[in-house]
Amino acid sequence: MIYLDNAATTRMAPEVLEAMLPYFTQQYGNPSSIHAGGSAGKKAVSQARRTIAQAIGARQEEIYFTSGGSEADNWAIKAVAESYGHKGKHIITAKIEHHAVLHTCMELEKKGFQVTYLDVDGEGKISLEELVAAIRPDTILVSIMCANNEVGTIEPVAQIGAITRQRGILFHTDAVQALGQIPVHVEEMCVDLLSASAHKLNGPKGVGMLYIREGVEIGAMLYGGTQERKRRAGTENVPGIVGFGAAVERAVGRMEEKAAAVRHLRDYLIRRIEEEIPYCRLNGHDRDRLPGNVNFTFRFVRGESLVILLDMKGICASSGSACTSGAVEASHVLLAMGLAEEDAHGSLRMTLSEENTVEELDYVVEQLVQILEKLRGMSSSYEAFLAGKGEA
Ligand SMILES: *Cc1c(COP(=O)(O)O)cnc(C)c1O
Repeated sequence: MIYLDNAATTRMAPEVLEAMLPYFTQQYGNPSSIHAGGSAGKKAVSQARRTIAQAIGARQEEIYFTSGGSEADNWAIKAVAESYGHKGKHIITAKIEHHAVLHTCMELEKKGFQVTYLDVDGEGKISLEELVAAIRPDTILVSIMCANNEVGTIEPVAQIGAITRQRGILFHTDAVQALGQIPVHVEEMCVDLLSASAHKLNGPKGVGMLYIREGVEIGAMLYGGTQERKRRAGTENVPGIVGFGAAVERAVGRMEEKAAAVRHLRDYLIRRIEEEIPYCRLNGHDRDRLPGNVNFTFRFVRGESLVILLDMKGICASSGSACTSGAVEASHVLLAMGLAEEDAHGSLRMTLSEENTVEELDYVVEQLVQILEKLRGMSSSYEAFLAGKGEA
């Protein structure tokens, strides 16, 4: 199997699993318990919190563990609305955000909030001028992701943070795709809230975190015990949190070296596709792009068909975002970037990791060439296109 779907999830690193195992079977005490079994878990959770805080330039008291990126996004936006709603009811986000952000904002619209969904340009970037123009006296929150999960475009987060900080508006960023791939630093980016998730950086599924800057007065996600400084009750997912800490340490420690290797593979795959496949177009940004992201539109075919036929050849890829691939809706990200509905449907996302090899990518291109010939051969729109060009 050739795995090219690392934006959906990643393989857990062996050393991460190793770090987690004792907390299932040996050190299984409840961190809230006084005895030795509990204090081992408590210590391990603190250690993970320190590691993660350090990796993003935060203090450990500002890290709150959650069940993942979606929970962190929901919590950040809902809690700001609740705690700062008396100051204003306007929120700014972007059309290309993950559904965990978009659907939370849409829910708030039903409760009397007004949301501006910023457009993006053809490469998936928001405009700082449009952001500034959208700010109103009653704007309480800006939520813009660090990097997009579908097309890999990296947003100008530090500039956004400078704009919001100067105006006293809270800034949340979804850094789920960015952490471990590109530098993420809460001070340099002037963020007040930041979401991350372990399973996107070779950690376990079901654990993530929300960074809440000290002084941001938002309420609890869950009520109950005093865990997570009373903001997120419930017995800690000790093995998961330990795995998250190990994954962050591993990813951030050798990020530059790993990113360079993945970027090399990415550019190789892009170049070969562009050279060998006609009527395709790379989606996303030329330079400001996540190291592992490749997203192409192949005209005259359906992305879902490509994914299914690649799967039959042992290749795991994705069309649109994984979260919506059950439904055959065109990607909201590609539509926001101005692609025609039909071109948005013809997109294929391949997200690489350092475990991929040039040989694998050669095989992928070879299969892709054959599959596209076959699919286009059956396509009436391709036939009509060739007829229009006088080639049929
Ligand atoms: C995967 C992802 C999420 C959701 O994270 P989970 O831990 O799976 O809930 C949120 N935002 C982005 C950008 C993602 O890629």
